[in-house]
Amino acid sequence: MSNRRIFLKKAGISTLALSLPYANTLSAMHTLHEDKVLRVAIMGLGSYGTRVAEAMKDCKRAKLVGVVSGTPSKISDWQSKYGIPAKNCYNYETFDQIKDNPDIDVVYMTTPNSLHKPHCLRLAAAGKHVISEKPMALNAAEGREMVAACKKAGVHLLVGYRMHFEAKTLEVVRQQRAGEFGETLFFQGLSGFRIGDPTQWRLDRELAGGGSMMDIGIYSVNGTRYMLGEEPVWVTAQESKTDPVKFKEGVDETITFQMGFPSGAMASCLSTYALNHLDKFFLNGTKGFAEMQPSTGYGPIKAWTNKGPIEREHITHQTTQMDEMAAIILDGKKPLIPVDGEEGLKDLVIIDAIYEAVRNGGKVKLG
Ligand code: NDP
Repeated sequence: MSNRRIFLKKAGISTLALSLPYANTLSAMHTLHEDKVLRVAIMGLGSYGTRVAEAMKDCKRAKLVGVVSGTPSKISDWQSKYGIPAKNCYNYETFDQIKDNPDIDVVYMTTPNSLHKPHCLRLAAAGKHVISEKPMALNAAEGREMVAACKKAGVHLLVGYRMHFEAKTLEVVRQQRAGEFGETLFFQGLSGFRIGDPTQWRLDRELAGGGSMMDIGIYSVNGTRYMLGEEPVWVTAQESKTDPVKFKEGVDETITFQMGFPSGAMASCLSTYALNHLDKFFLNGTKGFAEMQPSTGYGPIKAWTNKGPIEREHITHQTTQMDEMAAIILDGKKPLIPVDGEEGLKDLVIIDAIYEAVRNGGKVKLG
């Protein structure tokens, strides 16, 4: 169905019933709405912020218009590269003034994990929508504060879960929800890479909030939930550390974790900073299976089921993500798999439980 027909249907109006002048007005209104572009400022001009900025060049509904950065030289580089006016440039001390800037709709935080909560609270107070990178915060308590602050301010809080818009992922999820694999009783998620530079923020507990689980294991936590379409009711977890110098107290190197679901389904996952070639999802049901490898990298994603390969065009994930987030913020579109603060919070509740299970060596109940 065309966007125009969906709009008319939602408005309860049959196309045939419209008199021509009214139809023209409605059509003009609709076009105006559809054409509206989300004006985005990126906060933290590092590796991922740069990737998002480059991907946004191909967006139809999102445009990079501003920056927040602690590095003046990066600000001037980005100004000339992306045509950003001086009035849309801020640093971490001045960005509260963004409240007086009507030309920025949303700030996308691509900063280290520990900065997401304090900056989100300031952005909400400034009345701007917020997109947070994953993990949304260091723990569920912080996540709840963010959700509450954005709700109170009446702004959207979204999390950069780019896989929730990826075509092959969505097809596997569609087939799972349609029962094509039968009862899906087992999921395996493997997420890991060998981390380099020991001085980076990802290995600093204060900035990262943990280790591999916060950074890469979260893909298996999140993936388990959207692949099975259920929320876990218990978690168990075990940790192993081969390099206690590089991975200090509170920075996990490798964690295996298991989750149980109301249907009786179980998940078994691995999160590690010690091994490469770990980017795999496997979903098994009573009638079939789906396998994805790579499953959450920048792509192209490869996916196949017991019936054969799933073919879909590869589009840069962050381009699709930002166009879809524009539709969520500007049109109130509801994505098939949510990307809001509540969704980010669900992962943080599970990650808290995984760390608790590692500490206690037992089963942690959820829900
Ligand atoms: P980088 O270190 O490359 O960039 C982070 C940027 O944040 C820095 O360049 C800096 O920008 C700013 N910053 C502000 N304060 C600090 C600080 N104390 N230490 C370091 N940097 C600081 O990190 P990434 O871009 O790789 O990661 C950023 C976020 O994005 C993380 O939350 C990460 O989990 C997430 N991420 C998500 C991915 C995805 O696929 N969804 C992939 C990769 C990362 P400036 O100088 O402009 O202030």
